[in-house]
Amino acid sequence: MFFEVSYSDLAGRIGKIKTPSGTIETPAFIPVVHPVSQSVDVEFLKKLGFEAVITNAYITLKQYGDIARQKGIHEIINFDGPVMTDSGGYQVLEYGTIDLEPSFIAQFEKDIESDICVPLDKPTGYGLSYEVAERYVDETIRNSKETLDLIKSNNNTNSIWVGPVQGAEHLDLVKKSAGLLDDMGYEMMALGSPVQLLESYEFAILANIIATLKSTIMSKPIHLFGAGHPLTIPLAVALGCDTFDSASYILYARDNRYMHPNGTSKLDNLTYLACQCPTCISMTAKEFISLKDDERTVELAKHNLYVLRSEVLSVRQAIMEGRLWDYVAQKARAHPKLMEAFKLFKNYKYLEDATPLYKKKAIFFMESIDQYRPEASRIRRILSTFRTDKKKIVLFPDTEVSPFYCSQEYFKLSKKFSDYQICAYNPFIGIIPIEISDIYPVAHNVISKKKFNCNSSKDYPTFVSSLQEFLSCNFFDEILIVADDFMQGIIQDIQITSKNLKVIENSNGVIDQL
Ligand SMILES: [Zn+2]
Repeated sequence: MFFEVSYSDLAGRIGKIKTPSGTIETPAFIPVVHPVSQSVDVEFLKKLGFEAVITNAYITLKQYGDIARQKGIHEIINFDGPVMTDSGGYQVLEYGTIDLEPSFIAQFEKDIESDICVPLDKPTGYGLSYEVAERYVDETIRNSKETLDLIKSNNNTNSIWVGPVQGAEHLDLVKKSAGLLDDMGYEMMALGSPVQLLESYEFAILANIIATLKSTIMSKPIHLFGAGHPLTIPLAVALGCDTFDSASYILYARDNRYMHPNGTSKLDNLTYLACQCPTCISMTAKEFISLKDDERTVELAKHNLYVLRSEVLSVRQAIMEGRLWDYVAQKARAHPKLMEAFKLFKNYKYLEDATPLYKKKAIFFMESIDQYRPEASRIRRILSTFRTDKKKIVLFPDTEVSPFYCSQEYFKLSKKFSDYQICAYNPFIGIIPIEISDIYPVAHNVISKKKFNCNSSKDYPTFVSSLQEFLSCNFFDEILIVADDFMQGIIQDIQITSKNLKVIENSNGVIDQL
């Protein structure tokens, strides 16, 4: 196996991709290195822990030709770790077409001993009509087939060949493209050129594209082209991208843009440098701004690389701790368009598959979107299978003491209502029968104690379904509900049909009055 996963959370994966020149820990940011004019020393990239770089095979071919074939790409760019080569698709995106056959560029990528190679693709970018996008997808598929035929005909290669998935916002084309490349035998997939989407912060469209690809290709590693913004990284990783490349560190620097964990600013507008990287520690904002152009660009690019490094490591740590959902949720507050994308997570059922069944730490429920955490959706499904023969039920708010059966409240309820089915309720998880109140995360969650007094049923549809299903699949003659603010809101909005329905407001000592 060239890709081994050791930890996962949502669809983010800590793993190792093995290449002929070494392994890459995922999720990995792969900085773009220019084969001719690289402004930041490649040694510096290595020092920062970037294990792989990506460069452009087309430019290398044009510039070095046979010299590159003799020396190999590692010597050309002075990097002895894994090197990925993009075939020239980006140039196609810029200039419409390039003057080479797919098999020629594939042979060249092989000759220069690239570790991770991409066939010549025809990027769909964003905003093309369906017909044009479909034509581009078909062309990329033909190129990819031609490339793979060539590669298979001369074996002895350990390089990883990456299937370029195109189709952009036309999701059925993305699905078709990914399916065909998978069937052809590509070991890794790359999502083509969402640069325009990212430049306009169209994170929601990007999220749907990644989710479509990931639901089609669950296990193979996925690369995302052109993702080098600190806000894009956690989103892309959470949705299933294992590696991503970008030249953003230098492109932003040339544009005088200073990266933050939550976005970018024009350097000229900064009064303070909050970053702790060696560059920012060594000078004030004013001094940074007044550096000579070339020096400022390189220093700014280095700073940007520190921010990207920090982002990738933070995301990895969040995966290790099972806190990727919380991490993305925090990031989502940095930009409304990222929040829009985060809200789509509730539609992506596949996020449950790689989220561990048990985590060492309790999960946090803070606001309504958290009802869609994979852990919550999964446990609701389990709880919904519960059946009882008892004819009476007491519903009581989940207690601070976990599990519920260890609480004083349960102790009193069970004495008083020995022939009742006793259930706790939790806005994020639903109805919790006492018999299964200690499984994860029923007894392992922390809820913010804000007042749930408005729009309960509108904001918590999963709770409404959980309650209705529980009551309709079991047959109770008598229903007793101790209703907190949240439950009162629910009961106002939905119909509970029972001859013997009794609702009592939750308050201190309420059990003694029952
Ligand atoms: Zn800095």
